[in-house]
Amino acid sequence: MKQIVVIGAGTMGNGIAHTAAASGFDVTLIDVAEALLERGMSAISSNLQRGVDKGKMTADEKQQVLGRIRATSDVSAAANADIVIEAIIESLPAKTELFAKLDSITDADCILASNTSSISITKIAAATKRPDKVIGMHFMNPVPVMTLVEVIRGIATSDETYARVAELSKQMGKTAIEVNDYPGFISNRVLMPMINEAIFALFEGVATPESIDGVMKLGMNHPMGPLTLADFIGLDVCLAILRVLEEGFGDPKYRPCPLLVKMVDAGWLGRKSGRGFYDYRKP
Ligand code: NAD
Repeated sequence: MKQIVVIGAGTMGNGIAHTAAASGFDVTLIDVAEALLERGMSAISSNLQRGVDKGKMTADEKQQVLGRIRATSDVSAAANADIVIEAIIESLPAKTELFAKLDSITDADCILASNTSSISITKIAAATKRPDKVIGMHFMNPVPVMTLVEVIRGIATSDETYARVAELSKQMGKTAIEVNDYPGFISNRVLMPMINEAIFALFEGVATPESIDGVMKLGMNHPMGPLTLADFIGLDVCLAILRVLEEGFGDPKYRPCPLLVKMVDAGWLGRKSGRGFYDYRKP
């Protein structure tokens, strides 16, 4: 693989582009508007600068990495890709529309990967005529730091596609772990019920947020408590993933805690809105 195209220059897309370029790949980063591309490129530049400040890379190396990323709002720039990694908004209609378009403009052997957190890879693949070459590459946030790529095989994903993506993950300094396509894959199927249970414990008055997080940090050696993590992920994102699990399995054990629903209704979405289980508005 030589040409990597990343679509979506938001949190995940700019992290994936950063990591691929830092691993020596030529990257094309695509988003819908120039302003979003500028924001994505400036995030990459400041994240690289942190590495320079810590003495992990030189200013010259930083410029070389940035020089390997070409930013454009023209989706037809994906035409020569060996692999497209999609990291646009978490919406099935938006993703299927994009994959159908990519299917028509890219070479027949180009792999089409999605960074979706919860949408079925099999469903996305059905929007294309190459379901054997469609796969999930679920990077973790922040991408340059986290080493896991959860690689999700849709029902039709071929062994060859999996092998090429596992090799690419390795070349990007990541560890690929293979999972099959069922709701929440492994990461969110295990994580979200834990977060939901922590919210139920708060809802029932078992302990304060600080105590719930403290037990999980000190007792289980988690680097972050579940409520702090939920605020970091975004409470709307947690709720949407729990709905995917609840609907996908038809099992009430995944029902979201009413407190989570209420907080999302109030616009208390965690860090990004300034208020979640903790208050981020304080200086
Ligand atoms: P984000 O909102 O930060 O960025 C999404 C970007 O995609 C935006 O810049 C938007 O303009 C762009 N976009 C939307 N539609 C587009 C289109 N048709 N063509 C090109 N660009 C388009 O979102 P994010 O947090 O980076 O999440 C992206 C994907 O990664 C989602 O599927 C999400 O579920 C998944 N994901 C997110 C996280 C996380 O922690 N944020 C972790 C793992 C996976």
